[in-house]
Amino acid sequence: MAEDIAAVVGLARREGLRVAAQGTGHGAASLGPLEDTILVRTSRMAGVHIDPSARRARVRAGTLWQDVVQAAAEHGLVPLAGSAADIGVVGYTLGGGLGWLGRRYGLAANSVTGVELVAADGQILRADRDHEPDLFWALRGGGGNFGVVTAIEFTLYPVDEIYGGVLFWDMERAAEVLTAWRDWTRTLPNEVTSVGRLLRLPPLPEVPEPLRGRDLVVVEAACLTDPAAGARLLRPLRELGPEIDTFATMPPMGLQAIHMDPDTPMPFAGDGQMLAELPPAAIEALIQAAGPRSGTTLLSVEIRHLGGALARATPEHGVLASLEAEFALFALGLVTDTEVRTGVEAQVGTVREALRPWDTGGAYLNFAERRVHPVRLFGPERARRLQAVKARYDPDDLFQAKQPIPPER
Ligand SMILES: Cc1cc2nc3c(=O)[nH]c(=O)nc-3n(C[C@H](O)[C@H](O)[C@H](O)COP(=O)(O)OP(=O)(O)OC[C@H]3O[C@@H](n4cnc5c(N)ncnc54)[C@H](O)[C@@H]3O)c2cc1C
Repeated sequence: MAEDIAAVVGLARREGLRVAAQGTGHGAASLGPLEDTILVRTSRMAGVHIDPSARRARVRAGTLWQDVVQAAAEHGLVPLAGSAADIGVVGYTLGGGLGWLGRRYGLAANSVTGVELVAADGQILRADRDHEPDLFWALRGGGGNFGVVTAIEFTLYPVDEIYGGVLFWDMERAAEVLTAWRDWTRTLPNEVTSVGRLLRLPPLPEVPEPLRGRDLVVVEAACLTDPAAGARLLRPLRELGPEIDTFATMPPMGLQAIHMDPDTPMPFAGDGQMLAELPPAAIEALIQAAGPRSGTTLLSVEIRHLGGALARATPEHGVLASLEAEFALFALGLVTDTEVRTGVEAQVGTVREALRPWDTGGAYLNFAERRVHPVRLFGPERARRLQAVKARYDPDDLFQAKQPIPPER
């Protein structure tokens, strides 16, 4: 209940503590130490309400994407969910929200129509176009810095089937496949969102036999087209003779399997990087750093194709109005102990360094696993405006979030 959270916020203020909200813990790496902080777990505050005639969903703070996708699909609708079924709707959306329908419909944050939250003074507020407009702007991309969100409302889109899947090749063909994929992205309509990826699948029983323990290069894509048009679009990649081709017509729930994220939480270390372009020299540098003979143990280095609606800012959008890069990279490795973590972080650093010439210098909140300065996330002007909103709604910096916005002093 929002009133229970208001009571926790009041207690924290009286005791000189801070408050951090958490749905799943997926974003815990960049949250920082929690001494003198009350962690408010919202996972039991779950619930989805779909209004099919308004094409809108209202979900409670602890809801996971899988539950919204399923409920919306019953009405022929989809939300702008992330790649994994068990990501928290609120954490993902407050940080931007880059999903499989992104090039067609934009960031999830910019489809938000209202946010309910407990503010630093314990008040229960609603932020939308007509109420608390500055707060509404800041919440759509500025993360969990402005209060504990209790519910969020957003637009759904009329999609009942998608043509999507994955093409797999041996990683030895990484240069050829990634170059063909990069060329392909230049030809695509906004109905197609895709990922080029180096993938090292561990020799675990959960991994299907033909892929278990293999080093691969893959292209994953979701096409908002009929199967015939999707097949026509895919032709240049299919001509490269993938070993496995899983493309098929699928219901919206199928989207959450394309990226092959594990069903259960896994300890990982990783980080993101925004790339202005991906010329042949960048692909070569990536392969040197993480390809077949690199010696790296990174499980996944994925490059997401941006552009389309993700690049189109409008005055109605929130602070993360668009993603100003052509591609977003995320590299990660599994971590079993501190020593392994140090090794994985070094390997992620090697990839980032190799691609530095094409790095925009910006960062995307949801892919930033280390603390980054707000100017890198939002640029100087929007970072300043965010700090002013923070100073108005949380002047004492009560709320601790995964990427902090310090209040303007
Ligand atoms: C397997 C996996 C796949 C991913 N795929 C994508 C993807 O496709 N696209 C993408 O954009 N990102 C993706 N991400 C990144 C993900 O969106 C971020 O890690 C996000 O922060 C996770 O939100 P959460 O609520 O699940 O995590 P949490 O750790 O619970 O929350 C993260 C942060 O969100 C804020 N927050 C959460 N709940 C509240 C609340 N009720 N009120 C106020 N603030 C709150 C807090 O600042 C918190 O520190 C992925 C992450 C993983 C682990």
